Amino acid sequence: MKPLTEDEIRASFVNATEEDLERMPLPGLHETVWEDREYLGWRDPANPLRGYIVHWSEGADGERPVGILVRTVGPHRGRGSAMCSLCHTTQPLTQVSLFSAPKAGAAGRRGDTLGTYICEDLACSHIIRMAPPHLQASADLERRAAGLLGRVQSFTSDVLKTA
Ligand SMILES: [Zn+2]
Repeated sequence: MKPLTEDEIRASFVNATEEDLERMPLPGLHETVWEDREYLGWRDPANPLRGYIVHWSEGADGERPVGILVRTVGPHRGRGSAMCSLCHTTQPLTQVSLFSAPKAGAAGRRGDTLGTYICEDLACSHIIRMAPPHLQASADLERRAAGLLGRVQSFTSDVLKTA
């Protein structure tokens, strides 16, 4: 993904209040390997139930960053596996959490949310690059990366749908 500045990140959020944004910590941007990411995702160490997702979105008026605040009730408990709805990686149950995103605008202020299962650390881009070497063919990674970006975009556009 194209790099983002701190200001771009703060201005990108579509479903967070001023107060949410004041409390939002930023990840270490100078350590971020942008070309290995489809979206920037991070959790809040001070508010362990909060997470943040930002990606570039192609709209009618050009490309712009879209950020969403998500909340979780915590990871699945128990044994077994679950699939992340964004990167489609199947992982142990404890590494996939149900996140809910407040909807943008009036719907969000009424309390409407949208839920989905996502990798617990919001590091899907890292996960898809950790596949065993025999699955690391670049065409395969490109396909997974494109799928991941498409699904992140469709999740945030659902958050933005106010009707
Ligand atoms: Zn994932």
